[in-house]
Amino acid sequence: MEELLELYSGMGISPPVYNYGESVLEKLSERFAAIDQIAEYNQAKVVSAMQKNRVSAACFAATTGYGYDDMGRDNLERVYADVFHTEAALVRPQITCGTHALTVALSANLLPGDELLSPVGLPYDTLQEVIGIRPSPCSLAEYGVTYRQVDLLPDGTFDYEGIRKAMNAKTKLITIQRSKGYATRPTFSVAQIGQLIVFCKEIKPDVLVMVDNCYGEFVETLEPSDVGADMTVGSLIKNPGGGLAPIGGYIAGTQECIDRCGYRLSAPGLGQEVGANLGLMPALYQGFFLAPTVVAGAEKGAIFAANLYEPLGFRCVPNATESRHDIIQAVELGSEAGMVAFCKGIQAAAPVDAFATPIPGDMPGYDSKVIMAAGAFVQGSSIELSADGPIRPPYAVYFQGGLTWYHAKLGILMSVQKMIDAGLISL
Ligand SMILES: *Cc1c(COP(=O)(O)O)cnc(C)c1O
Repeated sequence: MEELLELYSGMGISPPVYNYGESVLEKLSERFAAIDQIAEYNQAKVVSAMQKNRVSAACFAATTGYGYDDMGRDNLERVYADVFHTEAALVRPQITCGTHALTVALSANLLPGDELLSPVGLPYDTLQEVIGIRPSPCSLAEYGVTYRQVDLLPDGTFDYEGIRKAMNAKTKLITIQRSKGYATRPTFSVAQIGQLIVFCKEIKPDVLVMVDNCYGEFVETLEPSDVGADMTVGSLIKNPGGGLAPIGGYIAGTQECIDRCGYRLSAPGLGQEVGANLGLMPALYQGFFLAPTVVAGAEKGAIFAANLYEPLGFRCVPNATESRHDIIQAVELGSEAGMVAFCKGIQAAAPVDAFATPIPGDMPGYDSKVIMAAGAFVQGSSIELSADGPIRPPYAVYFQGGLTWYHAKLGILMSVQKMIDAGLISL
């Protein structure tokens, strides 16, 4: 379209970059249609849970103070529990981020003398301090919870023999991270997670399984809670917040686990009875309602990026053709300059803070410098178009989000343009 080319040109995207994007897109229509089908299913799943729980305008009222009898909050938790097919859920603005949600789930269900096992290698960076893999005040290690880890096999699959050997009388909780995080291993499908859970529970039927579901919600029709996870955990400024939740986290799981999480989050004896919603219910309900389509748009962006960058010679994880189980796209750019150029493109395409220039810096919870591009309505929201990555080999940028597919597309085209402008690639 002539007007679009002109508008894009004015924004800095040259016609060759746009045309390259169109040539890539022509081949993606079948995959995009499959994503739309999953979104349609998940949309119906969310609407049906809202109808079942009789969501009404009264659910959107603000509460303050203790928040006793907060029906909007309690009902939202039932909606989450129904979507995740669990007995209960804890969904709160008082959960400050994904790391906090995971910390609550772990520390509520592990006691001194218990052991935590990760059968999928090193957990996400911020979890390392929570567990005490990197010593930190108030870590689980300080409270006498030990930790064991079994790495993935070189081909990225589970080391079942190693896991069998690592499980022992003390093993109380198994943590499985669905998404790759800042690693370049594959993200696990819900089916793979289900197989691992079955294997672990055969060895030890009473072991608890927590799945870090960050970035995975609504990418498939099933969630980890459908395949045996006792707790499924994530952040509301990622997928399930649909871009509207300004804060929050969720834990969906068994009544027993969620009760303990409530006591850990507030106080023993108080549990889920307290916690005012502070007027955030409209955003949390509506964001959850929008989440399936927002996730679909973000996933299209990730696939588009892989199909654009792989032919240019950059390793992409997942690659251009493989199936997807989260919304993250890693692109190994091979140099700090590549990471900076890519992130500049994402930043330049943002609706907010497009004038800013991302530069590498230190971040709490991360042990190397990190670069982040984000021009988000909600600070740090990574369901919004964003890119980040630790400045260390293989210099991979982790790209995710996009509240709309068209915005994701614009950002990715802009990143290619910035790579060209920096002399790092040519078409
Ligand atoms: C984002 C993320 C977290 C932590 O979430 P924050 O909201 O950044 O604290 C944990 N695990 C994985 C896999 C993540 O992607």
